[in-house]
Amino acid sequence: MGSPLQAIRGMNDVLPDEAHGWLAFEEIIRNTMYRHGYRNIRTPLLEHTGLFRRAIGEVTDIVEKEMYTFTDELNGEQLTLRPEATASTVRAAIEHSLTYNGPVRLWYAGPMYRHERPQKGRYRQFHQFGAEGLGFAGPDVDAELIVMCAALWKELGLDGIRLELNSIGSSEERASHRVELVEFLETRVDALDADAKRRMHTNPLRVLDSKNPVVKEATRNAPVLMNFLGEQSLAHFDGLKKLLAAAGVPFSVNPRLVRGLDYYNLTVFEWITDQLGAQGTVCAGGRYDGLFEQIGGKPTPAVGWAAGIERLLALWQAAGRVPAPKAPDAYVVHQGEGAAECALLVAQVLRAAGHSVIQHAGGGSFKSQMKKADGSGARIALIVGEDEVRAGELTLKFLRRDASQQKIRRDALVAAFGNALLESTQ
Ligand code: ATP
Ligand code: MG
Repeated sequence: MGSPLQAIRGMNDVLPDEAHGWLAFEEIIRNTMYRHGYRNIRTPLLEHTGLFRRAIGEVTDIVEKEMYTFTDELNGEQLTLRPEATASTVRAAIEHSLTYNGPVRLWYAGPMYRHERPQKGRYRQFHQFGAEGLGFAGPDVDAELIVMCAALWKELGLDGIRLELNSIGSSEERASHRVELVEFLETRVDALDADAKRRMHTNPLRVLDSKNPVVKEATRNAPVLMNFLGEQSLAHFDGLKKLLAAAGVPFSVNPRLVRGLDYYNLTVFEWITDQLGAQGTVCAGGRYDGLFEQIGGKPTPAVGWAAGIERLLALWQAAGRVPAPKAPDAYVVHQGEGAAECALLVAQVLRAAGHSVIQHAGGGSFKSQMKKADGSGARIALIVGEDEVRAGELTLKFLRRDASQQKIRRDALVAAFGNALLESTQ
């Protein structure tokens, strides 16, 4: 026997006490997506490395240092565990011509992988859900996607998540801003950290996104991209702002917001909370009109967002909004000749009628079985002994209310149990 094996650092088990919250959360996501007309898509966890290099961009945190990339030893292919799902979704849309008959609304949820330093709200396997509008030029669908987030926070009972919005224009507009930005950064080069110095020439916009307070301060007066936007970009941004105002979704414009992935243009946004410390962004997105072409498809405008499930769950928990796990309706205890068989049938009949039933397993005295019944949280214990088997009856005992036990007939089981269950909640 070796030492016990452990999970990989930054990759967490979700144990049953927590998993019920995940299920409840996922159900709310599914309902919200359904109500907004978004259809689910499921793409593989593994993709060719080239997809992410091309889609996300070489000079990004993700591609530079966060991807789980390896060679498939069986055929020599370079593969990567997906760090996000937009690239895969667009790859699938191109591969299966999903936008052939017009725009589509899609959503996904699942694990993502990034080799980051694990800390609160930052893991190496984490979970995102996201929504994408493929083929829409906006800004109406930009607004729709953002309004959907607001609806979701409301549904979850979360407040204090604020919306920051920006427009990063077109690549031409960014190019003219870039010239002035690099000139500016050169005058501040001494205050830049290694990352910023490196990016100054490869991806200068990202320098403005630095979390290093020294870099932030040094770039405070950097040329603002918004001032380089032309009429069309500004009209798109104004259109979005008008729609958000009409929908009653408050926002603030943050002219420094640029987002960490290269594929964005025009609209970018983040939903941020102050309750999670440094890991305060719970959802982020924007428009990515160039991505289809970038990975080999026809030019197709698109927009979307991704949200971090762990961070939202932490908020949900802190807000005390996670519903309590549902207890089983019944626990069946049994002992004696023919009782196990009878108990099994009773459980089957009740489950088929939609009830949640635990059938005692592993033997033991009635007393110890009743303890288990109590510990299970079930509202009702059903007792099957030899007498009951012979009489074609069951004994029904309320576990959460003070009431005398009753006999119910096997041939009227479903109706009698249903009545008792109703009584038990009164
Ligand atoms: P951050 O600035 O926090 O690293 P990001 O810009 O890398 O975020 P995105 O790629 O936009 O994040 O992903 C969208 C959301 O996914 C984030 O807002 C966050 O809620 C969540 N997220 C991203 N990385 C992680 C991680 N390592 N662990 C947990 N959640 C994450
Ligand atoms: Mg990151």
